[in-house]
Amino acid sequence: MQVQVINKQIREHSIENIINKRDRKKDKKPLQAYAASWANKDRLYDSVGYTIFIVLPTSGCQWATESGGCTMCSYIADSPLCEISDENLIEIFDNEWKKQLEKTDITSHENVAIKLFVSGSFLNKNEVDVKVQEHIFNVFSKYDNIKEVIVESKPEYIDEDSLKWLASIIPDKIFEIGIGLETSNEDTRLNKINKGITNKSFERAVDTINSIDEYDIRAKAYLLVKPILLSEKDALEESIESAYYAKKVGVKRLAYCPSTVHGGTLMDYLWKRGSYNPPWIWTTIEIIKEVRKNVDIPMIMDTAGFGTRRGPFNCKKCNAKLKSLIIKSNLEQEIPQELEEFSCECKNKWYADLEFSKILNTTTNPKS
Ligand code: SF4
Ligand SMILES: [Zn+2]
Repeated sequence: MQVQVINKQIREHSIENIINKRDRKKDKKPLQAYAASWANKDRLYDSVGYTIFIVLPTSGCQWATESGGCTMCSYIADSPLCEISDENLIEIFDNEWKKQLEKTDITSHENVAIKLFVSGSFLNKNEVDVKVQEHIFNVFSKYDNIKEVIVESKPEYIDEDSLKWLASIIPDKIFEIGIGLETSNEDTRLNKINKGITNKSFERAVDTINSIDEYDIRAKAYLLVKPILLSEKDALEESIESAYYAKKVGVKRLAYCPSTVHGGTLMDYLWKRGSYNPPWIWTTIEIIKEVRKNVDIPMIMDTAGFGTRRGPFNCKKCNAKLKSLIIKSNLEQEIPQELEEFSCECKNKWYADLEFSKILNTTTNPKS
């Protein structure tokens, strides 16, 4: 319980600071400036394709404002922290979509996926009204080559009627709901991540998704590699166990997010005091090897933040090379031979961490 109390205090303090800072600024950032979009080559279920990422600023994750939120997440700090009208949100989306259309002729790409992010849950109607949801999905419905539409939601906002209604707007596309499971270990999820969801609520949401036959709706699990208060070894083992669990309960795709330390979070508080370090890149590679070989659903290892001071790190000699090999592995959904055989002198330190970090609560990874 103490973790939740400290987490809430840190979050409230961080939000207060952000609001004060923004109030002091004469030129307030327009709402549109909180939005973003970009595109790149990415893995779809059946092929490599063109993926458009769109981030929409919404009023903020309800879980973060009510409870302090998850101990690694700073989405709330990046949101405008005010009410946004439906008209505003539609306008913001239209602008981002227009930007993407100006960049490329979408119809020239054979397979396109859309990944839509809001400040919390797309399916939470308090955050994204049905009117806005409908507008956005209507836009996607006009393009036959958009094969996948991916949104994120906490399990409590996933219900059959809403899913069917949204899927009916894009009936020929894969509609994927990404859920932040983070780990299959309930103690870690509730007490170290403060996610506020149980395995039961996750399984109920996945069952609801899988019970709908008329449309191709799929569940994806986001898994966090190395939450706070976990040794390197435990983090590695939990990440692998979580893949087995997710597959068993009906998840169709996995997305691992190795921790990067974001400001204003409990993770950041511990990191600054030397009580937390993001995972080794070796740990993420071990997960890739184990999961690709033994869990036969698509899996992506996110490489954002790799090799940075606040992100997953090995040593300066091998960070960049391994990051590019992991991206290759994501695109091909295989383990490149070079990744399988790769070694570096820093690997012995990682082995030492696996063996002793639990006992000593230390790390040999100095991020120099
Ligand atoms: S991870 Fe998701 S549920 Fe948790 S605080 Fe961030 S946006 Fe909210
Ligand atoms: Zn190295």
